[in-house]
Amino acid sequence: MNLKDRDKKHLWHPLTQHKLHPETIAITKANGCELTDEDGNVYIDAIASWYTCMYGHCNKHITSRVSEQMQQLDQLVFSGFTHEPAIKLSEALIKILPENQNKIFFSDNGSTSVEIGIKMALQYHFNNGEKRRTLIAFEDGFHGDTFGAMSVSGLSIYNSPFEEFFLDVKRIPTPNGENHEAILNTLKAITKNNNVAGFVYEPLVQGAAAMKMHDAEGLNSILKFCKNNNIITVADEVMTGFGKTGRHFASDYIETKPDIICLSKALTGGLLPMALTTCSKQIYDAFYSDDLSKGLFHGHTYSANPLACTAALASLELLQSDAIQNNIKKITKQHKAFGERVKTRPKVKSIRQIGIIFALDLDVKMERYGNLRDKLFKFFMKNGVFLRPLGNTIYIQAPYVITKKQLHKVYQVIEDALEIV
Ligand SMILES: *Cc1c(COP(=O)(O)O)cnc(C)c1O
Repeated sequence: MNLKDRDKKHLWHPLTQHKLHPETIAITKANGCELTDEDGNVYIDAIASWYTCMYGHCNKHITSRVSEQMQQLDQLVFSGFTHEPAIKLSEALIKILPENQNKIFFSDNGSTSVEIGIKMALQYHFNNGEKRRTLIAFEDGFHGDTFGAMSVSGLSIYNSPFEEFFLDVKRIPTPNGENHEAILNTLKAITKNNNVAGFVYEPLVQGAAAMKMHDAEGLNSILKFCKNNNIITVADEVMTGFGKTGRHFASDYIETKPDIICLSKALTGGLLPMALTTCSKQIYDAFYSDDLSKGLFHGHTYSANPLACTAALASLELLQSDAIQNNIKKITKQHKAFGERVKTRPKVKSIRQIGIIFALDLDVKMERYGNLRDKLFKFFMKNGVFLRPLGNTIYIQAPYVITKKQLHKVYQVIEDALEIV
């Protein structure tokens, strides 16, 4: 029996209604930007396997370093113990994170990094003797699948069985360049009627909302308001982190820096699961005390796994290399030219781009997991390109090592797809 049939017996896949979508594709090999399935078909991974493998799959620089580390130290309790890969990673990260970031807390997935960010914000006030329990978040945000992360997420179609158990969250619209004043008024009203602890947001790009982008100046005025009102700002850079927007972090585009930053996805170049919640000294100091109970009593078994730290370190070296930085610039330029070319096509409603993130909205009605979406997905795969349309949006977030030829193939299948919608 082939893999995809054996899969059906015992496996339950994420974000999948198995009755409607019984088919999976079994991948047996990945290299650079290419995935190979069990029948030998090759696909260009144009979304870097959920924005993780940004330096290409099975990148030798990363795998060789991790394989060396494996012989040396594999796993360690990170409570009361420490190790060089974690120390080196913290030193390398602090150099490139926004300048107010000072401490790094480890976990192992994006949702959890947000969960920890929320707990830091809530306990910050608790430790300071203030009763604050309300959180603010953007409409249409996505922050993950654990309870705190679900609570601040605005894409509620998946969350309805759990909504009554959520944290207290008030929503504001994303800034569009024209609604600054309205948003500030909403914020004033929320803070007047609630004790607000924190604001959790995806800076500049909302990934799961189909790469919805918003205005940096507007976001800055929201962050300034939060600072002035002692509302802890938590930037969820799980998707935007590590070069995707053209800068190392989306927060680099915004004058007011977040108190807390959540990172995962591209952190280890896709090799191993790991996440970080980083914070300013001000946050850390509220936990630093003679009183044991003021500490952050949160910890995951695989916190700061030495192999994952090594993968992250090797990935950071790549991110900062001239080769990758040049690639980011080149891809950004090529996306721009592609955007100019397709934006006047009849089926294209609009395009948007920041750095290597490119999105195109189709001028058609379509459901997030509906028939047209399935038809498009199948069309792309049949033509050797892995793209995952979201709603009526087709987006590209390919590895930084994608070749010109591969990228042109991605553009070509998208243009061809315009003929079938
Ligand atoms: C993917 C994502 C998460 C959740 O990360 P997981 O590792 O899937 O738990 C949280 N926030 C953002 C912005 C994401 O893109």
